[in-house]
Amino acid sequence: MYDVIIIGAGPAGIAAAIQLKRAGTNIILLERKKVGGLLNNASLIENYPGFPAGIFGADLVRLFQKQLEVHNIKPQFLEVKSIDNRASTFFIKTNHKTFCSKTIIIASGSIPKKLNGEVNLSKRKLFYDLDQLSDVEGKTINIIGSGDIAFDYAINVANAARQVNLFIKNKTKCIPILYKRALKKQNIKIYKFGKFDSIPSDHTLVAIGREKKLPFISKSWQDLLANDSDALEKLGIFLAGDIKLQNFRHTAIAVGDGLNTAIKVGRFLSCQSK
Ligand SMILES: Cc1cc2nc3c(=O)[nH]c(=O)nc-3n(C[C@H](O)[C@H](O)[C@H](O)COP(=O)(O)OP(=O)(O)OC[C@H]3O[C@@H](n4cnc5c(N)ncnc54)[C@H](O)[C@@H]3O)c2cc1C
Repeated sequence: MYDVIIIGAGPAGIAAAIQLKRAGTNIILLERKKVGGLLNNASLIENYPGFPAGIFGADLVRLFQKQLEVHNIKPQFLEVKSIDNRASTFFIKTNHKTFCSKTIIIASGSIPKKLNGEVNLSKRKLFYDLDQLSDVEGKTINIIGSGDIAFDYAINVANAARQVNLFIKNKTKCIPILYKRALKKQNIKIYKFGKFDSIPSDHTLVAIGREKKLPFISKSWQDLLANDSDALEKLGIFLAGDIKLQNFRHTAIAVGDGLNTAIKVGRFLSCQSK
C-alpha cells in the first residue's frame, strides 16, 4: 500500500514526487511514455527561472531526471487504465499490474485536439506530438496551427527539415517573439489554412490546441471535476499541473502546482492518520 500514487512524470508529477519523497512519504510515480512529459516536445524554454539564456526542453528533462535519481525516485513505465476505490483504498489498474494507495495525484497533462474532417487527409501522414515524428531530416513538413506550440514546432523542425509550411486558420495567436523567429527562418513559409490541400508534404503535424481528458476515471468523477478541479480532494484524489490549469499551461506553473499539491496531500495524510 503506497501513501501516494502519482500519475504522470511531467514537470508537475516530478515536482510532487520530489517534495513527497523528501518528506519521507511512500510514493510511486507512474508514466506511460517518457519522463518530462510535454517538455520532450519543447524547444527553447525561456520563462523557467534559473536559466538566464533559456534551456532546451530536452536538457531540462535531463536535469529533472537527474534530480529524480538523486532522490532515489524510479518512475515505473506503466499506463494507468482505471482508478477505483473501496473504503479508503484506491486501486490503480495499469496495463501491467494493479497498485493500492491511500491518495492519488493525477498529473497526466493535456492531450492534443484532433482535426475532424476539416482537410483532405487521405494521403497524409498525421502527427499530433513532435516526439512521434522522428524523420524530418531533408523532408517537407506541413504544420497546422497558429499558437505558441505550432510556431515552436515550426522553428524546431526547420533546423532539420528541408521545408516547413505553417497553415494558420484565422490569425496568429503565438507570442510575438516566436512569430519573429519563424519569419527569420528561410525555410518556413506561412499560409492560410485554406491552402493546405494544395501543398504536398512528407508529414503533417497538427497543433490546434490541447484539452484535458481523464479516460481512466469514472464518468461521475469526471462530471464532478468538470465544475471544480478540487472536487475529489475530500476523497484523496488531487489534480496537478496542466490537467488542472487548462489555460495556464507553463512549466513553472506546473512545477509550482505539483509542489502545492504535494503539500496538500501531505496534510491530508497526516489528518487521516490522527
Ligand atoms: C512545443 C511546446 C513548447 C512549450 N514551450 C514552453 C515554454 O517555452 N515555456 C513553458 O513554461 N512551457 C512550455 N510548454 C508547456 C509545458 O511543457 C507544459 O506546461 C508542462 O510540461 C506541463 O506539465 P504537466 O506535468 O502538467 O503535464 P505534461 O508535461 O503533459 O506531463 C504529463 C505526463 O503524464 C503522462 N500520462 C498521461 N496519461 C497517463 C496515464 N494514463 N498513465 C501514466 N502516465 C500518463 C504523460 O505521458 C506525460 O508524461 C511547451 C509545451 C509544448 C508542447
